[in-house]
Amino acid sequence: MTPEPAVHHRPERDVHAEARNRLQAMRVATAETLVALEATHRSVVDSSRDSNADDEHDPEGATIAFERAQVEALAREAAERITAIDAALGRIDTGTYGVCVVCGRPIPAGRLEARPTATTCVACVVR
Ligand SMILES: [Zn+2]
Repeated sequence: MTPEPAVHHRPERDVHAEARNRLQAMRVATAETLVALEATHRSVVDSSRDSNADDEHDPEGATIAFERAQVEALAREAAERITAIDAALGRIDTGTYGVCVVCGRPIPAGRLEARPTATTCVACVVR
């Protein structure tokens, strides 16, 4: 009897399983962020409607417009992140995850850990 556990490491599978977990956790968190941003957006829009009677040079109106633009930018970012996460999950399903779309070489695990939605290796990052 051998005391060694019969565990066969399949590094690639493990990396993909980890990436899937990480991406799914990211997706949940990003979706929550997006819901919160949409709620903030609604309240900002409501307050801008309230101040519509005021003149456009009203400093509060400008602040609200700025706030609204910021919330919209953040919501757009979150929506784009969800799209990128879904694309990455799709690549895991099709077995192309972690392969650079430019040069076709494997993307280093460290980069995928830092950026699970990465589609290129560091050398191929578009500048
Ligand atoms: Zn590359």
